[in-house]
Amino acid sequence: MIQLYNTLSRQIESLRPINPPKIGLYSCGPTVYSFAHIGNLRAYVIWDTLRRTLTLNDLQVQHVMNITDVGHLTDDADSGEDKMIIAMRREGKSAFDIAEFYTKAFLSDMRRLNVLEPHAMPRATAHVAEQIEMIKLLETRGFTYRTTDGIYFDTSKLADYGKLSGQKLEEKMAGVRVEMGEKKSPTDFALWKFSPANVTREMEWDSTWGVGFPGWHIECSAMSRKYLGVPFDIHTGGVDHIAVHHENELAQTEGAFGKLQANIWMHNEFLTVDAGKMGKSLGNMYNMQDVLDRRFEPLAFRYLCLGTHYRTKLNFTWEALKGAQNALQKLYERVRELEAPAIGCADYERDFLSAMNNDLNTPQALAVMWRLFDDVELPSAGKAQSLLYFDQVLGLGLENYIGKALEIPADVQSLVDDRQRARVEKDWARSDELRAQIQALGYEIDDRAVGTRLRKVA
Ligand code: AMP
Ligand code: ZN
Repeated sequence: MIQLYNTLSRQIESLRPINPPKIGLYSCGPTVYSFAHIGNLRAYVIWDTLRRTLTLNDLQVQHVMNITDVGHLTDDADSGEDKMIIAMRREGKSAFDIAEFYTKAFLSDMRRLNVLEPHAMPRATAHVAEQIEMIKLLETRGFTYRTTDGIYFDTSKLADYGKLSGQKLEEKMAGVRVEMGEKKSPTDFALWKFSPANVTREMEWDSTWGVGFPGWHIECSAMSRKYLGVPFDIHTGGVDHIAVHHENELAQTEGAFGKLQANIWMHNEFLTVDAGKMGKSLGNMYNMQDVLDRRFEPLAFRYLCLGTHYRTKLNFTWEALKGAQNALQKLYERVRELEAPAIGCADYERDFLSAMNNDLNTPQALAVMWRLFDDVELPSAGKAQSLLYFDQVLGLGLENYIGKALEIPADVQSLVDDRQRARVEKDWARSDELRAQIQALGYEIDDRAVGTRLRKVA
């Protein structure tokens, strides 16, 4: 039984697939107007481990992740500018080029982190017709009203609006300044925004209401329905999405189809940097390039994410990433020493699976993995086999290391031999110089009590 925390019911629930063995999983994806930051990357790593865990349980996952390439305003409450338009101005490119560039960058980040590509990645701009159709349905069912700047969802028409966040209107709005405009209630939100008069947007579409573009929330309701139906099994996103984006997705789908959008709603806690908020102006909005520039293995970031439960805040520091990288290197070194995989250990595999099935307890799953190494009773080949099993979820690329001695290029080996001679002669200056040369070729030397070891660095 897979147990997952459901934000909607505020409790841990057993997953009961709607159409076993199939599972429909929808994750809110990137707004492709800039590079994903490490907080976003944490979210994608987490939902990838969810997908992998479901697969390990022999479920057939259909994972859908949207690409937002229109309609995401800077302020989730329907004011501010479209993020894509801001990027167009900043970079002097067309919306299409911006979306294409940052989608490619996103996919490259995902590959580096061993995040499996979703089965479908629908783009909002390619599904405007579906969004218009859904807004029409909402209109027919009396959930909409028109203002001078758009068509809005009337949240007062849905008796249990607010059930995802569990907040009453006053709580929801405490401390939040909402541009009311002509909205009837601060929680009402745009389904369709009209293009401003006398301005031609590159991204605008004709509709029965007038030329304009869809609001941000409607894309996920329309596309999740198209690719997964209503209801589907699991919907995911960061905790920032609970109060507005997901509350509104859920409301629209219920309004239009009279059904719950998804049975289980899962949310990851935030990644913070140096115990604070990330921000462009704070200069700490790190992305994959920053990780690479500091010569970290991208998978060290994945390992770092696995070390913290997804519903706990992860405080990112470069020291913490260094610690994760050291642990990962140690793991690679240890698996290199194993024999070829054969017949895994059922007890450890069961413990690992039950940790993951217990609301994705990745820290405990990692602990099971490390415990396996220290079990002197277990044959090496069995450890190797079970590690391959664990890695179906961990995604640390262990298959590239298990039982494979490090292949050292001849030029590096000859420097290592020279350094060994220098050490015998106690020529420490020469030894240090050679170490630096070896390092420049991408290898690090580790002198142990018995012998010297080499490791490849990123
Ligand atoms: P966005 O492109 O802003 O819509 O964000 C993409 C995903 O990353 C969403 O699921 C967000 O909830 C999530 N997210 C945004 N910021 C953070 C953060 N600091 N830590 C973890 N997840 C985040
Ligand atoms: Zn969404």
